[in-house]
Amino acid sequence: MKAKAFAPAKINLTLHVTGQRVDGYHLLDSLVVFADLGDTLHFTAGEALSISVTGEHAAGVPSDSRNLVWKAAEAAGWTGHIDLNKVLPHGGGIGGGSSDAAATLRMIEDEGGAIPPGTALRLGADVPVCTSASPNRMRGIGERLDPVTLPHLPALLVNPGVEVPTPAIFAALQCRENPPMAEEIPVFEAPQDCAEWLGKQRNDLESPATSLAPDVAQVLDALKDTKKTLLSRMSGSGSTCFALYPTMKAAHFAAYEIGAAHPDWWCRAVQLN
Ligand code: ATP
Repeated sequence: MKAKAFAPAKINLTLHVTGQRVDGYHLLDSLVVFADLGDTLHFTAGEALSISVTGEHAAGVPSDSRNLVWKAAEAAGWTGHIDLNKVLPHGGGIGGGSSDAAATLRMIEDEGGAIPPGTALRLGADVPVCTSASPNRMRGIGERLDPVTLPHLPALLVNPGVEVPTPAIFAALQCRENPPMAEEIPVFEAPQDCAEWLGKQRNDLESPATSLAPDVAQVLDALKDTKKTLLSRMSGSGSTCFALYPTMKAAHFAAYEIGAAHPDWWCRAVQLN
C-alpha cells in the first residue's frame, strides 16, 4: 500500500488565553484556519516504522521516535516508511508537527485503520483541529471544536527564522485569565469585514513573544507597512506572523515588498480557509 497526504499550515487568526487548569494546561479560545501551503507525506506500508525527512525545512526535524508523525503512526499501530517533505518552518507557530501528525492519522483512518479514542489530543493540543483541516473555533485545551464558516482570506505568512519555544512564551505571559472571543462569530461577506472583526480580537501570546524575540515585533511592523494590509498578527506562539489582504494580487505584491526588504525572511503568499 502507498498513500500520500497533505499537511497544511495551521494559522491562529486569534488566540485568547482564558485560563489555566490545575494540571498546568492552558485554556484557549482560538479561531483556526488552514493555508493552501503545507508539508507533504508519502506512506509505504511495511514491517517496521521508519521516517525520512526531506525538503527546504528538513534541518532540525527529527527522523526518529521524537517526530510527531512517528508518534501518530505508533499510536495507531501503523508500520511502514514515511517520507516527510518539510515545506513549513518548524517551531514557527503554524503547527508543522501537529499538522503532519494529523495528516498521518487521517491517512490511517482513510485506509481503514482504527485510531484509539483521544489519540489526537494526546499527541498535542493542536492535533485535533489539524485533523479537521478546516476553519474551527478551538476551545478548552484543544478538544472542543466548533466548525466556522469563513470567506477565503488572501494572506502573507512571514517567519524571521527564529524559533520561539512555546513553554517560554506561556511562562512569560503576564495574565492567564483573559476575556474569551466574542460569543458569536458573525457571518462575513468578504476578507475586509472579517479582518475588521478580527481586529477587535487578540493573540494573547503576541506581547510575551515580541518581548522574548524582537524579530517578531520587526516582522509585525514590516507587515503593517505593506500596501493594502487589513490586519497583521502573530500565529500561535510565533514566530510566524500573518497579514490579511483584500485580494491574492495584494498578498503577492506584499510578498514582493517584504522579500525585497528582507531576503533572509521566509515569506509566502497563501490563501487561508
Ligand atoms: P504549534 O503551532 O503546534 O505550537 P510549532 O509550529 O510551533 O507548533 P513545530 O513545527 O511542530 O512547532 O515544531 C516544534 C518542534 O517539534 C521542532 O523544533 C521539532 O524538533 C519537533 N518536531 C517533531 N516532529 C516534527 C515534525 N513532524 N515537524 C516539525 N517539527 C517536529
